[in-house]
Amino acid sequence: MNSIEQALTEALAIGRQYVNQGECASYIPELSRADKHALGVCVMTASTDRYAAGDTKTRFSIQSISKVITLAVALQHCGFEKVFEKMNMEPSGDPFNSLVKLDLTDDKPFNPMINAGAITTAGYLEPDVSFEDLLAYSRRVCLDEGIEIDERVYESEKNHCARNRAIAYLLQSKGILTGDVEKSLDLYIRMCSLGVTAESLAGLGLVLANGGLHPRTGNRLMDADVVRVVKTIMLTCGMYDESGEFAVRVGVPSKSGVGGGILSVVEKRMGIGIYGPALDKKGNSIGGRHMLEYLSQALGLHMFGTGEA
Ligand code: GLU
Repeated sequence: MNSIEQALTEALAIGRQYVNQGECASYIPELSRADKHALGVCVMTASTDRYAAGDTKTRFSIQSISKVITLAVALQHCGFEKVFEKMNMEPSGDPFNSLVKLDLTDDKPFNPMINAGAITTAGYLEPDVSFEDLLAYSRRVCLDEGIEIDERVYESEKNHCARNRAIAYLLQSKGILTGDVEKSLDLYIRMCSLGVTAESLAGLGLVLANGGLHPRTGNRLMDADVVRVVKTIMLTCGMYDESGEFAVRVGVPSKSGVGGGILSVVEKRMGIGIYGPALDKKGNSIGGRHMLEYLSQALGLHMFGTGEA
């Protein structure tokens, strides 16, 4: 067993100790059907070696991790200035589906990793970029041709999206969402319903770690400056209102979703994908968060080093 394999085995054992303390998301009813004890972690290294422990081939819905892909496409399609003309790039410190500050204190979504920001991003794309285009791109950047929309999750979310619909119309009232509100919301929900695995997330993490180049062919999948912006926003805003503590404890750009996934990027070294649908109070995979904290220490992943002189 090499050191990565051993670290993953140990991480899984640690993560499993926390799973009982979490709960699957239930505000989208279909998500509550997940096995809360499922847990897996996959690493893909720069040399394209793959290491896996636990449930790394189970399909689950990508949920908010799709915000990373949508942001990358929006930056490439519209450019940096246009994307951030009507959206900020600051952590909100609020839950992902909050609309309080958007209504009362700021006219722009705080960042593209919360729902208000991602619905805005979907609105930028909706007139020109189809869901099929985004699906094809998601398959390429996740190195996973098996990605499909999970129709049950899509229907379930579509039937329980009152809050996101409220956000979308609030965005319209502020002149941020200028296109078709329902179509923008639909694109957002479709992207959240993509079925991925921990392996697909490790693939996406590796492409981001590799500066946007396909790790095997060297083909460019994302512009380098887009990758830089996306990773920076993942670091500051990717783990809901736990992003600050997570950055201190783990120290790698990451994005989680309420389906139980976490995507992590270790610059130049590896992509990490996690699946663990039992969530903590903030909405992050509870087993996944502890696995990443362990791996960061065991493999020396923190972007600012070990802290030793
Ligand atoms: N589709 C979910 C929602 O809009 C995404 C939430 C998440 O994963 O953070 O509520």
